[in-house]
Amino acid sequence: MAGSLLRGDVALIDSNNRVGVKLEISGGGKCNITNTQLCEENYYGNKPFVKAILDHFDHHDLIAYLRQRGLDPVVRDQRFYFCKKSSREIIELLKKDAQHHTFYLNTTVTDVGKNQENFIVKTDRGNLSCKRLIMASGGLSYPKIGASDIAYKVAQTFGHDIITPKPALVGLTVQKDQAWFKILSGISTPVSIQVAGKTFSGDLLFAHKGISGLVVLNASLYWDKGAITIDFLPSHNITSLLKPSKKQIITQLPLPKRFTKEYLKSINLADKPIDQLSDAQKQALSGLKSYTMSPAGNFGFSKAEVTRGGVSTADIDPHTMMSRKVKNLYFIGEALDVTGELGGYNFQWAFSSAMRLLPDTKKL
Ligand SMILES: Cc1cc2nc3c(=O)[nH]c(=O)nc-3n(C[C@H](O)[C@H](O)[C@H](O)COP(=O)(O)OP(=O)(O)OC[C@H]3O[C@@H](n4cnc5c(N)ncnc54)[C@H](O)[C@@H]3O)c2cc1C
Repeated sequence: MAGSLLRGDVALIDSNNRVGVKLEISGGGKCNITNTQLCEENYYGNKPFVKAILDHFDHHDLIAYLRQRGLDPVVRDQRFYFCKKSSREIIELLKKDAQHHTFYLNTTVTDVGKNQENFIVKTDRGNLSCKRLIMASGGLSYPKIGASDIAYKVAQTFGHDIITPKPALVGLTVQKDQAWFKILSGISTPVSIQVAGKTFSGDLLFAHKGISGLVVLNASLYWDKGAITIDFLPSHNITSLLKPSKKQIITQLPLPKRFTKEYLKSINLADKPIDQLSDAQKQALSGLKSYTMSPAGNFGFSKAEVTRGGVSTADIDPHTMMSRKVKNLYFIGEALDVTGELGGYNFQWAFSSAMRLLPDTKKL
């Protein structure tokens, strides 16, 4: 969260005792900074708004910005940019860029008011006043590292709408019909998941509370209520797999054996040689290609990597990030109703929206 003080300085206020705490733990400690495949379709939210901001500062610009400052990220799987050794590399770079600003750490913003000239930023350590106020305080995810609803509170104070915040990029809990998933806790298997017209592929991890893993986290971004469809055999043709053979079902199907055993129980089918299966039983096994289930909910904000929803983009100018309701009030990053998929899209959004504050970013 930043605001320019009356004397012209930039003040950075954070309730944490150091900057970039979320960066420290992101991407397994190496921070997935961005992605070679970037477009507005990777975001849940107002697509023209997202496009306008990404067009102005995209992944090429971000990588160039980092390289100019001595950070050369590594690319994994030809898609994902990470810090070479640790997230500290990007934190130190950002700290250096902000070295002339004033940091107010261990300082929690509790409210923001306004008089004719200035914003009055109320904190647990006294008040600050500023002419321009930038709300970059994120969403509600990971409360243990400082998340708060202050951006929403300030937005509402000044007449902005809030799109209901929900946990996203998070595991999904299951209903009674899928109680058998819990026995499989710790097992992972490649799947593809269809949700709200999108398809994601990757490893699904069975967990005590339900299902998780990268593919589920991505699906959670687009899931509201209702069904998702899981293909447990995404690289296989079920008809070929069930061609007459003396092999037992559990041996024949290229799935974790414990999973197949529990799946068979769930459809009341005993393990037997493939050539003894009736057509109806084959049909029941085909359900592995399009297993439809309605999750009960999700693992909540404490486990969610991001918050979906937030300050509505309807009243934010995508050319400046300024509020259309109150001059010199800005909202950027996750506080806004824009949420990226897994894979560096959320940091890219935080950077792209922040760079929109500067009139001539490309010359940085
Ligand atoms: C475990 C985890 C791993 C992630 N990994 C990745 C990844 O690898 N790649 C990726 O793209 N995204 C990742 N994300 C998402 C990404 O971290 C966020 O989308 C991004 O940090 C949002 O940036 P932001 O600046 O908008 O908000 P934040 O990074 O959340 O920063 C907001 C800051 O505001 C401070 N603040 C909040 N309320 C107050 C208040 N009232 N007073 C004072 N200060 C306050 C907070 O302490 C915090 O420091 C991950 C998230 C989590 C939780």
